[in-house]
Order: sequence, then C-alpha cells, then structure tokens
Amino acid sequence: MSLAETYSTDQLSLSFELFPPKTEAGEKALFRHVERLVEFKPAYITCTYGAGGSTQGKTLDIVARVRETSGLPVATHLTCVNRTADQLAQYLTEARARGVDNVVALRGDPPKGEDAFVATEGGFRYANELVGFIREQFADMGIAVAGYPEKHLEAPSMDVDLENLRRKVDAGADVVITQLFYENADFFAFRDRCTTLGINVPIVPGLLPVTNFAQIQRITSLCGAKLPQAFVDALQSAGDDEAAQFDTGVEFATRQMEDLAKAGVPGIHLYVLNKSEAASRVLENLGMGSKA
Ligand code: FAD
Repeated sequence: MSLAETYSTDQLSLSFELFPPKTEAGEKALFRHVERLVEFKPAYITCTYGAGGSTQGKTLDIVARVRETSGLPVATHLTCVNRTADQLAQYLTEARARGVDNVVALRGDPPKGEDAFVATEGGFRYANELVGFIREQFADMGIAVAGYPEKHLEAPSMDVDLENLRRKVDAGADVVITQLFYENADFFAFRDRCTTLGINVPIVPGLLPVTNFAQIQRITSLCGAKLPQAFVDALQSAGDDEAAQFDTGVEFATRQMEDLAKAGVPGIHLYVLNKSEAASRVLENLGMGSKA
C-alpha cells in the first residue's frame, strides 16, 4: 500500500519511528521491541537518518530488516546534509532495490558545531528541492515531509513556515508528519491553517510518549516543543521515581492520543525511541491492541 493510500481509509493508521542503534547489542534489543510493536499492526515503520555520518549506512539496514522480518511497508528518512544529488540518488536506488518504497524527505539540521545549514555543492538547500528531485527521479516512491505545529526554530514566522511547508507539498509530498508536540490546540491550529492554505494531504501528528523527565527536557530544548505546565508539575511531583514518571507520561500520551483520534486525525506517528513499553501501554489503554 502506498503512503498516500495508507491514509485513505476511515481507520486511524499507526506508524512507528526508530533510529539506528549504535551497537550490536542495541540492534538486538531493537528487534525484540519491533516484534512487540508489530503486534499493533502499524501501517508502516520508519527509521531516522543520522546527521553525523556514522549511522547513515545503518538506516537502510534497519528498515530493510524490518521489512524482511515483518512484511510491513517501511520508510527511510533522508536528509540533504553533506550529500550531493548524485549521492542521494544512489542511496534511493539502493533503498528501492531493498524493498524500501517510502522516504521521509528532510533538509536536516546543521552538522554538530555549525550554526547554520549550508547546502553541499551539487546538493539541495531546502527539503522542497529534495522532494521535487525524488518525485522526478523516483516517481513511484511515497514521500512524507516534516511539519511544525509550533513553527520550525529557524522560521521567522508561522506564516513563512507554512508557505515553505506548502512548497514541499506542491513539490510532491504525499503526507506531512509533524514534529512532536504536547498541546493539541497547537496541532489543531496548525491543521486549520494548512487547510486554509490549500495543503490538503494527510497531516499526521507525531507523538513522543514521555518516559523520563530529564530526557524529555533535553529533547524539547533541542526541537523547541513546549511542555504544558500541568504536565511538568505532574512529572516533577513524581520526583526520582522512574516508574511514576513513566506512568505519568503514559497517562498524558493516552489522553493526548485519544483527543486527537476523536478529532479525526488520519493517523498517529509514534516516536518510540527504539522501545516498545510506553507505546504498548498507550495503545492498550486505547484498546488498540491485545496485551502481550
Ligand atoms: P525544510 O522544510 O527545508 O525547512 C527548514 C527551514 O527553512 C524552515 O525554517 C523553513 O521555513 C525554511 N524553508 C524551507 N523551504 C524554504 C525555501 N524554499 N525558501 C526559504 N526558506 C525555506 N533530522 C535528521 O537529521 N534526521 C532525521 O531522520 C530526521 N527525521 C525527522 C522526522 C520528522 C517527522 C521531523 C518533524 C523532523 C525530523 N528531523 C530529522 C529534523 C529535521 O531535519 C530538522 O527539523 C531540520 O532543521 C529541518 O528539516 P526540514 O526537512 O523540515 O527542512
């Protein structure tokens, strides 16, 4: 099923996002979690593409193995960082040969130590250019792009950012997957503005169930997502009790996802951070899967 078709039914489509583990032990553990996640019958599974080089080769290995072992559609993330158009084409040729039919097409963040993104000579400046390139050279591949309910950190305003999102969709993206967020009102406002602008591809909220307060503070400080004060208070009142922090995060994610599902979102993309416990608890709470 193509990425566009995935969201053409009335059912909420689930997708999970993994990242390439750095060690063999990490990879073994990941595939145990993937086995559990597959029980929830996701529409597809994606794997991020590291900005820093060393894990880039791993992304394809991970998605190809998920595809082989689960039979599910998969998507490789791909960024323009340090890559020429020829190198990106080579990567996509290999991806397709290995049964990877979908791409999450991104510009990427500036490499560590650099303040601003600088396009590689012979490469691309913005994700819309990568999307146009893929649509032209790999016409049958499904393409997802990133959307930012709280605005991309570099964008001068939401209006400008949304115009740029429209460029990606006009260039041929099938689906928008959002950055993680914790205020559904921000997502609904974003979705409404997309509709007004004529961005009429499925807009899929990306959710990261919080499992650890320190970790989510780090992540949100990097991507700019805000945590509601009541949620911060609840996490803080759990103190050093990791199980209590986990339970608080699962409860919040359950309510957040329930609210989004009620509002008719076409799917939910879960940033599972290579684990299955939190996602499983949330999905079981919502009656979306049997207990293991
Ligand atoms: P763009 O859409 O190119 O936007 C970047 C900035 O430029 C924005 O401020 C935008 O408003 C502006 N802009 C866009 N187009 C134009 C234009 N034509 N003219 C002028 N300005 C423009 N990072 C990774 O390294 N690896 C991953 O695997 C990865 N996966 C992700 C998955 C999702 C779902 C999300 C939401 C993010 C992901 N990221 C990943 C992070 C992403 O790379 C960063 O957020 C990056 O800073 C922007 O990428 P983009 O594709 O949104 O860029």
